[in-house]
Amino acid sequence: MKNIDWTNTIFLITAPIIGILGTYFHIIWEGLNSQLIIFSIVFYILSGLSITAGYHRLFSHKSYEAHWSVRLFFLIFGAAAAQNSALKWCRDHRIHHQFTDTEKDPYSVKEGFFHAHMGWVFKKDTRGSNFPKDLTQDPLVMWQHKYYMGILVWVSFLLPTLVGLYYGAPIGGLVMGGFLRITLVHHATFFINSLCHILGAKPYDAHSSARDNALTAIFTFGEGYHNFHHRFQTDYRNGLRTYHFDPSKWLIALLSFLGLAKNLKRVAPEEILKAKLESVSIRSKEKSLLDESKLKIEEKIKNVKKIRDSIVDKKVLLKEIELDIRRFRKLSKLVLT
Ligand SMILES: [Zn+2]
Ligand SMILES: [Zn+2]
Repeated sequence: MKNIDWTNTIFLITAPIIGILGTYFHIIWEGLNSQLIIFSIVFYILSGLSITAGYHRLFSHKSYEAHWSVRLFFLIFGAAAAQNSALKWCRDHRIHHQFTDTEKDPYSVKEGFFHAHMGWVFKKDTRGSNFPKDLTQDPLVMWQHKYYMGILVWVSFLLPTLVGLYYGAPIGGLVMGGFLRITLVHHATFFINSLCHILGAKPYDAHSSARDNALTAIFTFGEGYHNFHHRFQTDYRNGLRTYHFDPSKWLIALLSFLGLAKNLKRVAPEEILKAKLESVSIRSKEKSLLDESKLKIEEKIKNVKKIRDSIVDKKVLLKEIELDIRRFRKLSKLVLT
């Protein structure tokens, strides 16, 4: 109990309850407000992309450079996703990459699905204030870190309430654009740490638990191609192919086209091919080892069966001997009398 972060725990439990029940009762009592629904969806996309294209690919991995206005936007709407300041988020994420699947990984999937998904947020932050230097030297990042709670309250809760008020439903704005949206963005991000480390293929990095999965990419703004990302962290793409569903990659490309982003990092195709071949060779080695041990087990089972059969034979023989002895005794009694 001493290690529990009660603020995080209470918020993570109550936000979905308020968001889901609040939306349900608001629709029952007030009816469907289409403007409010559209606003909530747009706000969901903006705060979600601010985490994936902003917190993750820009601030954590420096996979591209962005104009200050874009960075400010990501910091403001990223704060609205209620996932900590960019400074703390990036520190945790860099530790995750450095120590994936070890005890030092804050959201290691080795501690179970729930821990990786959200259990780790329930625990007190013991990772200290040793923040990455490149981020502490960024005035915009430090400004957001300092005023994080204020931005969160204003943008995440007051803004949707005011928009709701404009459309004649302030409570609807708060529960749908505030609590329900936060819940959905939370779990979209959480699934990257849980599901994307459990479900899918490992085409680029056979050693990591991270997986590539097109299905999870749909609700994680393109982050479902997590095996590629763990192998090539600085590439601005997670979905490598043009047809891979990766809205964060498309947004970064659009920003570059508009002159608001530059130096988009891409890994050389030969590096990608090398990683693919390495992964295939490791997996085939693992498969042949598996086949070998399977053969050994089958051989052992055969031996056990043989031993069992010989034991059965010996038991039958023993019974026959017993019967012979009995017969002999009976006969000898008869002869003697
Ligand atoms: Zn990961
Ligand atoms: Zn990452």
